[in-house]
Order: sequence, then structure tokens, then C-alpha cells
Amino acid sequence: MRRITRKKYPGVVVTNLAVLPGMVIHFDINSAAGIKAVERAMVKDRKLFAVAKREAADGEKKDTISVYEYGCVCSIKQVVKLPQGFLRVLVEGEMRSRLVDYEEGEYLVAVTKEVVATDDWYIGKTVAPVYPEIADDSDEVKLGIMARINILKELLSTMLSYNPQIGKTLTKQFEDAQTLDELLDYVAINVPMHFADRQRLLSTETIEDRFMALMTILQREVNVLDIKTNIAKQIKERVDKNQREYVLREQLRVIKEELGEGSTATEEDKYREAVAKLKAKKEIKDKILKEIERFSHLHDGSSEAEVSRGYIETLLAMPWDKASKDNIDINRAQRILDRDHYGLDKVKERMLEFLAVRSLTKKGDSPIICLVGPPGTGKTSIARSVATALNKEYVRISLGGVRDEAEIRGHRRTYVGAMPGRIAVGLKNAGVKNPLILLDEIDKMSNDYKGDPSAALLEVLDSEQNCRFSDHYIEIPVDLSEVLFIATANSASQIPRPLLDRMEIIEVSSYTENEKIHIAKEHLFPKQVKKHGLKKGQLVITDTVWTDIVSGYTKEAGVRSLERKISAICRRAARMIYQDGKKTVRVTRANLYDFLGVRKYEQDKKNDHDEVGIVRGLAWTSVGGDTLSIEVNIMPGKGEIMLTGQLGDVMKESAQAGMSYIRSIAPKHKISSDYFRKHDFHLHIPEGSVPKDGPSAGITMATALFSAITNRKVRSDVAMTGEITLRGRVLPIGGLKEKILAAKNAGIRKVLVPKANTKDIEELDEEITHGLSIVFVEHMDEVLKQALR
Ligand code: ADP
Repeated sequence: MRRITRKKYPGVVVTNLAVLPGMVIHFDINSAAGIKAVERAMVKDRKLFAVAKREAADGEKKDTISVYEYGCVCSIKQVVKLPQGFLRVLVEGEMRSRLVDYEEGEYLVAVTKEVVATDDWYIGKTVAPVYPEIADDSDEVKLGIMARINILKELLSTMLSYNPQIGKTLTKQFEDAQTLDELLDYVAINVPMHFADRQRLLSTETIEDRFMALMTILQREVNVLDIKTNIAKQIKERVDKNQREYVLREQLRVIKEELGEGSTATEEDKYREAVAKLKAKKEIKDKILKEIERFSHLHDGSSEAEVSRGYIETLLAMPWDKASKDNIDINRAQRILDRDHYGLDKVKERMLEFLAVRSLTKKGDSPIICLVGPPGTGKTSIARSVATALNKEYVRISLGGVRDEAEIRGHRRTYVGAMPGRIAVGLKNAGVKNPLILLDEIDKMSNDYKGDPSAALLEVLDSEQNCRFSDHYIEIPVDLSEVLFIATANSASQIPRPLLDRMEIIEVSSYTENEKIHIAKEHLFPKQVKKHGLKKGQLVITDTVWTDIVSGYTKEAGVRSLERKISAICRRAARMIYQDGKKTVRVTRANLYDFLGVRKYEQDKKNDHDEVGIVRGLAWTSVGGDTLSIEVNIMPGKGEIMLTGQLGDVMKESAQAGMSYIRSIAPKHKISSDYFRKHDFHLHIPEGSVPKDGPSAGITMATALFSAITNRKVRSDVAMTGEITLRGRVLPIGGLKEKILAAKNAGIRKVLVPKANTKDIEELDEEITHGLSIVFVEHMDEVLKQALR
């Protein structure tokens, strides 16, 4: 083994440069100490120790020289004097050495120790004999070297495939190198790399370390190159695709021109032509032209051009100044309304008055009409009929479930997939600026964090503002002043207050059984017969059957499910005619079962005989009126009141109030004062799974309690409705038409109604009240007198 001794050399400190053994390189020296060191070397043996400067680490003294630990002993090949006394030195690296000490004087004297690889199994092994054909299989060292050379080669060739320039020199080095040691340095010298990487290679003591360090550096370099080429490829593909499309489009245009097909006019020209034909004010046309101009500068096929195209086409499709001619013949309008709908007199009358005012004032100053009533009572269809009567275009906008302001007012165009709001789209679809727009289910709108749609609707319905309605997408104010708005709702209480203030409510109430039969016979049946392709006379429904269909198979305020039942009969009949070859089909009470199956509903009937603690109340539900029997039981106990049957809060409070009233009149009726302490009271309303609420069962519950406490029977042919106060006064309630109908259907003879509701009863049709005795009551005294035996 060679003895490694310390040696002294004149030293120079270089910046950002790591000289490796075998490397020929020049650098400039401008410090006095450096120049002195070179001069000293020249007179001695031309040997110089070059080491790279290092940033002083934290905490290190500033005056000590900060250099790397490893440098290289070089031999000077040439020295050139530069102006201003600088030196340019050409050196060749010879020995990787470690700086173990230094002396500072006129110049730096470096005390160094040569680095001799300690993994001596490599040393002296030449590369050349390692090629496979000569290799001795048993020599593990040689095999190890061979493996490493192969890996190095593979990595290099991958790298060269990205950068063929370095290739030529390197292949030559591979041939010339005698040892792995040399080879590693050659590669390190010739592959372009960062100073820090070279310094890292310079600072390795063993060949194995050097090999691993080089591999890591090369592998990293390959990864970077790989990513770089990938990105470059993607960019190129994208550019190529755009260019290809452009070229193809141009070619297509030229081909079309050559064939004389299609016009050569560009899209912009077509848009401009459309603007010229558009019925709109100049300011609107100018705005569209400006957008077309912008569009013409956009790259065809780019997403921005698509947005712009969509915008231009929407603007061109809007009915700016285009209007249809209204029919102002009120008589004709009346004929059409009567033809399409049975009954609904109040609604038709109000509509005709409204139309008269509107045709006199021309503009939309008249209030917006809102039809309120249960489902299936013809609200939507009468609105459509009004449109026909007036010769207006009809558009229906469903507001149920709308909860985002943008649905009414549109999205700004900066959003991806932006669209105009429903009002603007409705107007666009109508194609004229004076259509009838039906705002369906206005009470079903809700609001959330995205803004309140009802606020946007306010602007739509406000005649002061709606001549300049702003849609976020359209941007140009849209004139809605000539639109006839009609809204529908199931319940006025659900409509936001500010909206309600701007509308005139027309109530559409539930139909009586008689009305339903008329509607079914005169409207729904002919409509369904036609819809099912049947001819007149092929299907006959006898008169007596209608009552059965209405009362036995439907339970609703309107006529929707009635219409469905009729449609079911038509389907069945169609099959009998075309499959079984029947000429006519007759539906009678006897064979109704074949068409509709078993009867689904039985009328609620009054109690068979008078009982203690059971009273008939009347209820209003969204599907019409109903009767409910209220039952009270009394047991020995501690004065507790139990209320069951899914009663809402208002109803519970109403029961409590009734109880308090009865306690207050107890002495008058000779009920002992500790009676209420010694008993429990249970009030139940059957059909326990149906939720019930509202104050209108107040007097009914009080009567039931009183009857049970005093053990007096209640007349079974009496029903009642009314709110109760603590002092026993009877307050008015709503939904009378439906309640009275229900009472009548249940076979009740006498109905107790709050005195304050007299007017409502007077407004009812004779048909409804016929055969009923209606007693107006003001106080519980009268109620008890009428109801109890
Ligand atoms: P709503 O909008 O109130 O829920 P629709 O207008 O959809 O009810 O009415 C349901 C069906 O009943 C429609 O086919 C309609 O033509 C019919 N209809 C309702 N009321 C009448 C009526 N008075 N006369 C004739 N047809 C009616």
C-alpha cells in the first residue's frame, strides 16, 4: 500500500469551480495572494492546489477563509497576463486532495493529503479487459465493475437520447478509459452539470461513493429532461391542434367557395345582416354590433369565441321591439273563457274586468293577478285560456323550487356556462315583447345564501321598474312593461309579503260535487275521448255513474285525479274496442268496477246516534273539506289533560282555552270545584296519523269536554266550526265553502258557524247550502244549547 503523505502547495481559491482530475480548464486570478501563488508555483514545479470558495456557515469566524475541504492539485499549462495585472491560468487537474491545513502569508500555502480510494479492490483494475468475451467468470471484482459500467452506460445512453450533442465525446472517453475511477471522472467532466454536483463528486473518498453520487446526479438529470420533453410535447400538441383546425377550416372555406356552395359570407357578416333586420332601438343595435366586432377578433374555436357567439345569438333572438297584435274584443274573450271552463264565474269576471282596464290603459299599470287555490282547480288552464282569448303568446315559468336569484336574473357572462334568467328566456321563447307569462307556483319559491329570488321578482312585477329589467347575462335593459303577468299559488300565506302587496289575489276555491260532475261531463270527458283517439259515441258513460266516479274514486279539491280516472276509463275502452272488436262501450254503475277497480273512498257519515263526549268538527285541508269527530274520555286521576291525534301547537292551545272556559262556567252548572282535580281528561281526534292544526276546532273541543263532564249527549246531526276565546266568545274562521260541502256530504243537518262569518255564507251558492240549517253563533252558551240534547 502506498504511503500517503502530506504535501504543501501554493493554493488558489476559485469561485464556483470544481476542478476534477483529468479536467483541463482555465480561470482568472485577480487577487494579489493568488497571483503570488501562481508565480511561486511557476518557479517551483508548476503545481498548484485549486479549491472552491464556500459560503461561510453560520457561526464561523468571518476572517478564516471559507473553502471546501476537497480540492484538486493541478499542473499549470499556461499563464497569460491580462491587462490590469490579472492572470489567466490554464491548468489540468491531477490529484483529488483534501485540505488538511493551511498557512497564510504572502500567499496561501495549502497543506494537502492526496485522496486515494480506500476500496482498493478497484484500484488498478483496468476497464478494457472487462468486456464480456474476455471476462473471467469467477472474478467477482471484474464482474462488479462490469455491472457498474453497464448501468452507467445505460443511464448515459438514455440521457444522450435527449441530448445527442454530448454523445460524441463521451463515447470516445468510454473507449479510452483505463479504470472505473478514470471513467467516472471523465463522465463527470464531460456531462454538463452544476458546480455543486461537481464539487460533490470531488469530495468523495471511495470509488463506490463516487459511483453512487454520479448515478444519482445523472438519474436526476434524466428525470428533469423527461419532464421537460413531456411539457414541451404537450405544448406543441396544443399549438399543432389549433393550427390544424385553422388550416382545415380555411381549406373548407376555399373548397366551398370553389364549389359555389354556401355563401362566402363570414359569421360576422351574417350577424351584422341579422342586426340590420332586427326590430330594436339604435342603442341596442349598437351594443350588439360592438359585440360582433369583438367576436371577429377572437380566435375561431376558442372558448372565448364560443361565449361571445352564444351571447350574440341570444341578443339577436330577444324580441326587442317585436310585438303581436292583441285581441281587444272583450266579447270574444268572454266566449273563449266560457267555452274552455265551466263555472269559475268570479275568476272569469275579474279577468274580463282586468282585460277591459288593460286595453283602455294600454300599459301594464293594472295590478298583477294572482290566482290562489288548491291544485287542480284550473288556475293554469284558465291562464292559458286568457292568452288564447287575447291572442297573446303564452309562456309558463315554473317557480317551484327556485331558490337562487340567478335563476330569475341570469348569471354574469364571466361564469362558465352562464345563461340568461328564466324571465329573459321566457321572453325569448315567446318571440314577442307582449306575451302572457304565467308565473306558476309563486308560493313555492324559497331563498338561500345565493340571494333572494323574490327580490328579483319584485323588479319584474313592479310597473315602475320593469320597463328596464336588468338581466345579468343580457346586460342590456329588457322592457317587460308590455308583458301580462299572471301568477298562481296554492296558498296566499306562503307568498313573500312584498310580492303579495303588488298582486291582486283572486281566490279559486274547491269544486262542489255538482261542479265536478259538470266539468267532467262537459270538458274533461270530451277532451280525454279525443286524446285517446276514440270517436263520438264509441264510449258512453251513463249519467248516474258520474256521482260514483267523483265521490267513490277521488277525494280532492280540484279535478286532477278525476281527469286521470276518466283517462283510465278511456284507455280501457280503447282496448275493448280495438282488441275485443266492440262497437260501443257503455260504462254503468254495474260495470264501473271493471274500469276503475274497487271503490276507494266512502263518504264520512254522521254518527248513528247521539253520544256523550263525541262531537263533529269541520276541517279545511288542501284537498278540500272534511269532517272530524272529536272524542273525550274522563277517568279518575289528578287533573291532567291529554291531547292525542297529532295536534299542532295552535290546536293544543285552543283545547286548553276551551278547558279553561269550561272550568270557569263549572259552578253555574253545579260541577263541584274539586272535580277537575280528581279526574284526568283525554281528548283524541281519530285518524291519528294525519297532522291537524289551527284554531277552528275550538268550540268543537270545548263542546266535547263539556258533554263528557256533564254526561249530556251531543246531537249526532250537528256539526260546528269556530275559534273559542277564554270568555267563550266564538270567533270567525276560514275555508267555509269546503267545510259546508263536507258537512253536507256527511249527512249533517245543522251546522253551527260563527256569526262573524255570515257574509261568507251568504256568498255561497244556493246549491251548496240547500237542505242545511245554518245557525250563526256568537257565544258558547248558544253552541251548547244547539248541540246538546
Ligand atoms: P291548477 O293549475 O289549478 O293546478 P290545472 O289548470 O292544471 O290546475 O287543471 C287541471 C285540469 O283540470 C286541466 O286539464 C284543466 O283543463 C281542468 N279543469 C280545471 N278546472 C276546470 C274547469 N272549471 N272547467 C274545465 N276544465 C277544468
